Amino acid sequence: MSKTKTPMPKQDPVKRARNFDEVALGYSPEQAIEEANRCLKCKNPKCIAGCPVEIDIPAFIGSISEGNFREAIVKVKDKNVLPAICGRVCPQETQCEEVCILGRRRDPVAIGRLERFVADWEADTDEVCIPDCAPPTGKRVAVVGSGPAGLTAAGDLARRGHEVTIFEALHKPGGVLVYGIPEFRLPKAIVEREIETLKCLGVEVRTDYIVGRTGSIDELIGSGYDAVFIGTGAGLPKFLGVPGENLSGVFSANEFLTRTNLMKAYRFPEYDTPIKVGKRVAVIGGGNVTMDSARSALRYGADEVTVVYRRSRAEMPARLEEVENAEEEGVKFEFLSAPVGFVGDDRGRLTGMECIRMELGEPDESGRRRPVPIPDSNFTLDIDTVVIAIGQGANPLVSSTTKDLKVNKWGYIMADPETGKTSKDGVFAGGDIVTGEATVIAAMGAGRKAATAIHEYLSPA
Ligand code: FAD
Ligand code: SF4
Repeated sequence: MSKTKTPMPKQDPVKRARNFDEVALGYSPEQAIEEANRCLKCKNPKCIAGCPVEIDIPAFIGSISEGNFREAIVKVKDKNVLPAICGRVCPQETQCEEVCILGRRRDPVAIGRLERFVADWEADTDEVCIPDCAPPTGKRVAVVGSGPAGLTAAGDLARRGHEVTIFEALHKPGGVLVYGIPEFRLPKAIVEREIETLKCLGVEVRTDYIVGRTGSIDELIGSGYDAVFIGTGAGLPKFLGVPGENLSGVFSANEFLTRTNLMKAYRFPEYDTPIKVGKRVAVIGGGNVTMDSARSALRYGADEVTVVYRRSRAEMPARLEEVENAEEEGVKFEFLSAPVGFVGDDRGRLTGMECIRMELGEPDESGRRRPVPIPDSNFTLDIDTVVIAIGQGANPLVSSTTKDLKVNKWGYIMADPETGKTSKDGVFAGGDIVTGEATVIAAMGAGRKAATAIHEYLSPA
């Protein structure tokens, strides 16, 4: 048995750094079977507990190793309605693969790549399996937000026979999956495909509906919805609060990625929202959003893209695979550095960024060592574009327009972690709007728990 995972075929780094096509190309059936055969079929597998939606991992991998891909996808979909998405963007290295028993001596089984393989295999067969639904209950549920939390809650509730309507503020459903994560990591056709499956379950999707503006939660309840799930995510960009942040050429990652993904700026003039990216770009931050912004900037034709991060490489929260992909494509890194201000020309256009060197001190509340500025270590980077990707917060629109809905000091909705139950009767919440920025699968897990609790709320014993 190979000590290492079956390698994932990928686009050549030089070519892919200039196009928006998907980087990872996926396993062939032979490669999938080869990788599935590395699984030990453990009597007491650890992988299932490492998966926030508890997919029966050994069972679906066993079906792949027998060449029974249909059976494998049915087993995956029993627990996960968005497998092609999770197989691409879940941080398996800190979840199922981190605890995989094979990983104690060798590379763990490439569980994520196998999940992606069966989901894509099914899509290619044109015989997409639609999970069964219970008979109609006559109950109506409103789901606010169509990110992974809302989509999962909606799918689970529809399968239990409830009539579900999703209310989404943007003109396309999918949340971060469509407006944040770029095409080269997650093709939008895949997200659309998975949403189509939900529609086949009877879920209605109403776009361009901003809850808190178009209508409020109280109005939804008043119009006949028996319960509400809030999955509005954490989409409010954070800024540095340093001089020069309003210069032309300074973007929030939220705007930069929304223009890129939702508005398809990279296909201008076919799509009419262009984006002007200069030749020397800096991206501030160290997470997945930073990597996505930096790699998008390269694809727009920048000569040099530098990630500026205030801690060291070891503390970067981005997925290791994406950091490696960025490096292969030519993204540079300036670690232990932080911006203190931006400078511009007399027309208000960005020309440079002043930074200060940092060193690592004692751990902070996140458990990571706190970056401490080194006095008199300032330096300047000549740049004409900067993308600020230092995190996002809670949008207060829903909480400020909903009576009796409690939020914490950061504005996140207070909800029971096991049920999603909020302070308001019949209203549940989950995903980033409760936990702050997390992961796709954590949001899905929260949507699933809330769906179970909503079902119990709607069908009292
Ligand atoms: P979201 O996905 O944010 O969806 C919320 C939805 O609610 C949005 O569609 C929004 O328009 C809608 N909404 C908001 N307010 C209203 C309103 N008032 N009325 C109606 N609708 C509303 N996680 C990973 O696991 N792997 C990754 O590789 C990864 N990469 C990422 C890259 C980027 C650029 C970003 C931004 C995040 C990334 N994440 C990644 C994190 C992950 O995407 C989020 O944790 C996850 O999407 C949260 O899901 P959610 O359903 O809670 O919210
Ligand atoms: Fe296979 Fe790893 Fe799960 Fe064991 S823990 S069953 S080796 S995937």
